Amino acid sequence: MEIQGLSALTTNYIWIITTNETTVVVDPGEARPVIEYLNATQRSCDAILITHHHLDHTGGVTNLLQTYPKCPVYGPNLQTLGIDNIEIDPLKILHIPKLSSTVKTMRTPGHTLDHLCYLIEDKLFCGDTLFSAGCGRLLEGDGKDLYNSLEAIRQLPDSTIIYPAHEYTEENIRFALTIEPNNTPLIEYEEQVKKKRAQGIPSLPTTLAREKSINPFLRTHVESIQTKVSQLSHQPVASAMDTLITLRQLKDQFI
Ligand SMILES: [Zn+2]
Repeated sequence: MEIQGLSALTTNYIWIITTNETTVVVDPGEARPVIEYLNATQRSCDAILITHHHLDHTGGVTNLLQTYPKCPVYGPNLQTLGIDNIEIDPLKILHIPKLSSTVKTMRTPGHTLDHLCYLIEDKLFCGDTLFSAGCGRLLEGDGKDLYNSLEAIRQLPDSTIIYPAHEYTEENIRFALTIEPNNTPLIEYEEQVKKKRAQGIPSLPTTLAREKSINPFLRTHVESIQTKVSQLSHQPVASAMDTLITLRQLKDQFI
């Protein structure tokens, strides 16, 4: 199994999962780069996986279905977008035809209420729930939802490879450094990411091991982070969940 990231819209990545037998497209926010890729590689669009209903993750589905009408679309219910897809039951293992690996679905409300993450072998396609050095904005769910969703991801093996849907890493690192200016792995990561981005190379994927050492949203149990968040927000934080909610508010205000 190989994974390829296609740049789409302004900051999105459309992840393409390929094996000898099949091609699965994750969150096609637009069709054009996917169709170009499929034509260039002489592949077809065999399945589409959607993490949540936002247009920058779903905007290409209708066009792709015009070219590949038999392609199944798996995800949360997308009827409001006019997409008649196969609604996933997160409690069941998903079998995609011709994909030998099974897909484990995680419900991760917070950014949206319908958000799903997909674990295929050691690869997590996490949409807008987790970014490198950051996490998705809280648009529909509440802080408790987001905390539980990130906590569920944190429980996966450290070796899990993380495929978020946006290239937000540099700006997330800038914010993370205001929370942990002396975090050595974070400082080193900033250097690596700057070099990559200067050459136009994606900063992603990342790994859970790395994110646990540099991403403040996965580190809200750390006492020094709780203290810093309390200082910056001028309010007490009593728990890791409190810290996450306040940290998310600080990030929303960060320019
Ligand atoms: Zn979104």
